[in-house]
Amino acid sequence: MTMERLFANNKAWVSRKTANDPDFFQRLVNLQKPEYLWIGCSDSRVPANDIVDLAPGELFVHRNVANLVVPSDLNMLTVLQYAVDVLKVRHVMVVGHYGCGGVKAALSRAEMGLIDNWLQPIKQIMATHRSLLDGLDDSTRLDRLCELNVVAQARNVAATSIVQTAWTRGQNVQVHGLIYALNDGRLKDLGCTLSAPDHLEPAFRLIHDGG
Ligand SMILES: [Zn+2]
Repeated sequence: MTMERLFANNKAWVSRKTANDPDFFQRLVNLQKPEYLWIGCSDSRVPANDIVDLAPGELFVHRNVANLVVPSDLNMLTVLQYAVDVLKVRHVMVVGHYGCGGVKAALSRAEMGLIDNWLQPIKQIMATHRSLLDGLDDSTRLDRLCELNVVAQARNVAATSIVQTAWTRGQNVQVHGLIYALNDGRLKDLGCTLSAPDHLEPAFRLIHDGG
């Protein structure tokens, strides 16, 4: 594998994109109006735009190991704030995937260094749902924890001051939890959509002046 291969691929891609649509790139320059923010895993097998078949300009993307939403993560917060306040996306999707290496690493409890700290929120979910998870076989346990992680991270998105402030000013933002299956390419809605403050646990609801 060489770097040259990437530049050759890029040249061929540009040719394909402009073959039937000479203005493809010119149009994109003036168009960043995505309606969706994808918060997904860095895993190379989970290519955001490809999975939902969206063109450049249609999907705003943030990815990290195990699609975590850590409320002190300035990178994630910056992406979320820009997406909600400036781009005015309608849908924020936390997208996990079955067989996630990050979730698997948390589950294994093997020491791996710095990443052990990053994975702590998943261990918290493991602790909260220990009796449920303990009763499952290994592969089902991993699948279930991948799903529980997505639901928890979707709630974390909704609990941010960014999303709650948007709701307070009447902006329509929905937060979804989705999971992707590597083995068949299918994306599943976990049915944990949050679209109003009362979808949050009371402890997380911010009280704004005037109501
Ligand atoms: Zn992953």
